[in-house]
Amino acid sequence: MPLELFLDDIVQLRKPHPCGSAQWRVVRLGADIGLKCLGCDRKVLLPRRELEKRIKRFVSRGAAPESAAGSPDLADSAARGR
Ligand SMILES: [Zn+2]
Repeated sequence: MPLELFLDDIVQLRKPHPCGSAQWRVVRLGADIGLKCLGCDRKVLLPRRELEKRIKRFVSRGAAPESAAGSPDLADSAARGR
């Protein structure tokens, strides 16, 4: 089961950024996860697997995807396929 990540999660990575902060906010979800450093606002993209290895802990969670079951976009595109 892959690590659950939500937008606006704050995560602490094992290795601090050179700016001194080890905490990052999740700003983009996908095959690559976008993270923004809370110390210097720098953005990075990390492959999900790479991020899973680097996360030490969650500092706080963003919005839990309670509506994930009823995602209209996914249902719609599935219905249109052939
Ligand atoms: Zn930084």
